[in-house]
Parts: sequence; structure tokens; C-alpha cells
Amino acid sequence: MTKIAHHMTDELLMGYASGTLPEAFALAVATHISLCDECRAAVESYEALGGGVLDDLECAELSDASLEATMNLIASMDPEPVDISPAGDPVLPAPVLSYIGKSLDDVRWTSVGMGVKQAILKTSSDASARLLYIPAGVAVPDHGHQGTEITLVLKGAFSDEHSRFARGDVEIANEEMEHTPVADIGEDCICLAVTDAPLKFNALLPRIAQPFLQI
Ligand code: ZN
Ligand code: ZN
Repeated sequence: MTKIAHHMTDELLMGYASGTLPEAFALAVATHISLCDECRAAVESYEALGGGVLDDLECAELSDASLEATMNLIASMDPEPVDISPAGDPVLPAPVLSYIGKSLDDVRWTSVGMGVKQAILKTSSDASARLLYIPAGVAVPDHGHQGTEITLVLKGAFSDEHSRFARGDVEIANEEMEHTPVADIGEDCICLAVTDAPLKFNALLPRIAQPFLQI
């Protein structure tokens, strides 16, 4: 596996560890940490911090010494066993697969135009998650964002004005950012895309189609 270059933010990892993220965002983090040892280790540390560690210290006063003791205790703990068993599908990690079925073949794609396809995943309504299928060499229309958009690559790779993203990589876009992701030539790209507000497409036709596409 190639090394992951683009990771989740600490805020997202902490939110995941504390169970406060909308379901769609939690799915994105769960999927990333199923592919990324570094972020998985960070989540385990946050979970330990939020969990039993402080109890174990038996109400030590919150001094520099107890903070140091806490960090030492965390460092000395065995990492929790993580289920990294093969998901049964080479493209879709287990967290995504649990919304789909047994394999990539079970995804029910709908066409978005230009060969781009999507499949909406059923999550709570505070944010939305979908799989995006972008044929090799094809661009997703230029768009800005009304909220936060997390795009996690599962197959192939895409590039935009900012960087290149391959399997496991995460691009986090916010309101200030506009971009045109283009799938690499030579391999179709599949991404998990999570948004907390509808995207604003710049081109007229996609904007008209947007309410119908639910993206
Ligand atoms: Zn990571
Ligand atoms: Zn975007």
C-alpha cells in the first residue's frame, strides 16, 4: 500500500473518539482509520484520554505532574485490538461496506452525467455521504462549498488545483475553497464524499440538477 499523504484533522479524530460527529462524518473517519495506522493510533489515544485513564489515576490533582503521569500511562497501555480483518472487498473498507452489502457489485449507482455516477448512503440527515464514481480522466464540475466536504479516495486517484489524492487520502474542503477534481488517466476513481451542506456548483446545469441529485 502506498503511504497516505493526506490525513484527517485532529478535530475530526477527536470528534470521532468522543462520538460527537454526524453519522456521515463518523463513517468517513472510520473508513480512513481502517486504512491509516497513524490516525487510528491517534483515535486510540483520544479514546483512552476520554475513557478509563483518568479513573485509573484516582482523582489525582490536575497538575503538571498528573498530566505527565496521564501521558505516561497512555504511552504504557497496550493499544486496543482493532478489527483489521479483510473486509471481503478490495475497494470498499468494512465501514463503507456495511452500508452497501457484500461487495462493490452491490452498489446501486445513479448517473450524474459525463459518466460520473453516485450512490447515496443512508445516514442521519445532519450530513450526507455518498460514493462517487469518476471515470478515468473525467472532471467533477468546478464547485465551491457551503459547509465542509470530506473526500476520501477508495480506488484510483484524483488531482485538483491543490494536490493529488490516492487511496486512503483525504481532501477536506471548506467554504473558501473552490476546486475541480479530475480523476487520473488510466484508472477509474471511486471516492467516499461526505458533506454537511449542499454543494454549490458553478455551472448552470449542475445547479439546476442539484436538488434532484442530492449532492
Ligand atoms: Zn491518517
Ligand atoms: Zn469539492
